[in-house]
Amino acid sequence: MYICFSIQSNRMKSKIEIQPIEKSKINSVDFDNLPFGSVYSDHMLECDYINGEWKTPVIKPYSPISLDPAAKIFHYGQSIFEGMKAYKDTHGNSLLFRPLENWKRLNKSAERLVIPHIPEEIFMDGLKKLLEIDTNWIPTNEGSSLYIRPFMFASGIGFHASPADAYKFIICTAPSGAYFGGEVKVLIEEKYARAANGGVGFAKAGGNYAAQFYPTQLAIEKGYNQVIWTDDNSHEYIEEAGAMNIFVRINDTLITSPTNDRILDGITRKSIIQIAKDMNIDVEIRKISVSEVIAAAQNGSLKEMFGAGTAAVISPISGFGYQETEYDIPALKTPFAEILKKTITDIQTNKAKDPYGWRVMV
Ligand SMILES: *Cc1c(COP(=O)(O)O)cnc(C)c1O
Repeated sequence: MYICFSIQSNRMKSKIEIQPIEKSKINSVDFDNLPFGSVYSDHMLECDYINGEWKTPVIKPYSPISLDPAAKIFHYGQSIFEGMKAYKDTHGNSLLFRPLENWKRLNKSAERLVIPHIPEEIFMDGLKKLLEIDTNWIPTNEGSSLYIRPFMFASGIGFHASPADAYKFIICTAPSGAYFGGEVKVLIEEKYARAANGGVGFAKAGGNYAAQFYPTQLAIEKGYNQVIWTDDNSHEYIEEAGAMNIFVRINDTLITSPTNDRILDGITRKSIIQIAKDMNIDVEIRKISVSEVIAAAQNGSLKEMFGAGTAAVISPISGFGYQETEYDIPALKTPFAEILKKTITDIQTNKAKDPYGWRVMV
C-alpha cells in the first residue's frame, strides 16, 4: 500500500496528493546511455476534470491508466500535448525554460480542441512538485535533460461526435540523452500537407502528428530523414521541418516563416529570433518560397537550413530533395546553428547569464 498524504506548503497555492513509489527504479537506469523519451521516471502527475471542475492533482508511481473503450480520445482524437525540458546546473539546481509559455500554449491548443483550460497552479505547482520528488531523475551529463510531457485528453465517454464531459491532465517525464541528429536530409513536400488554413496546425494536437507519419514514411523510403512542409494551398512556401520550426540562412540573413494557422508557434523559434537579433544577426520573419531556396542553393548563397524545437534545440540540415533533384548545403566552419544552439543551451543550463529572464528555478 502507498502512503497517502496531502501537502499544502506556503509556496504552493494548490493542494496536491502524493503517493510515493515504494521502491525507486532509478538504479536500473544507465544514465550514460539514455535514449530519447523512452525511459520514464518514478512518478507522474494525474488530474481529472469531472463535473465541470478540476479535482485534486495526484502525484503517483508511473503506471498504466485505465480508460473506458468509449472514451472520446479513442474516437474523436480530443488530445493535446506539450514538450519541455528540465536541466540541472552544476550547483544541483533544477531549471526550467520559459515554462509559462508551454502552459499558455497548452491552453491555446485546449481552446481549439474544446478541452477545458488547465489552471496555472495545477500546471506549474504540479510540475514543480513532480520535479522536486523526481529530482534525481534530472540527468547531469552534458547534453542530457529530463524531457517533460504534459498532455490532456478526453476521458469522458460517448459515441456521439461532440466534446467529452471529462478530461485527464497528465505529466510524465523521461530522462533523455542528447538528441543526435547526425546528417539530416530532407524532402520538400509537394503533395501532402500537415496543416491547412482554418485547421489545427497551430495547436499541439495529437492528430497533427498522426497525419504527418504517412508522408514522412514515404520520404524515408526515398532515403530522406524528414519532410519540409510547404503551405497546403500552393506548396510554394516552406513552413516547418518535421515537427520543428524552420530557419533558412541566405548569405548572412536568417529567415523564418511567420506563424499562422498552419504553423506551431515554437518557443525555441522565438528564443532564437530574440538571441539572433541581439547578436546583430539580420533576421527576417517572412514567407520563404521554395524557388528562392532553390535559387540560393544553386548560386551558393544558401548557407544553412535548420529545424528548431525543444527536443533537439537545433537540428542542422545537410541537404534537401525537390522534384527529383538533390541539393547539398556544404558544412560551414562556424554555422549560426552552432552559435545559436550553444547560446540557448548555455542559458537553459545556467552556464551563461540569462538577460531575458527565461530560466526558472524549480
Ligand atoms: C512542438 C513543435 C515545434 C517546436 O516548438 P517548441 O516550443 O520550440 O518545442 C515546432 N513545430 C511543431 C509542429 C511542433 O509540434
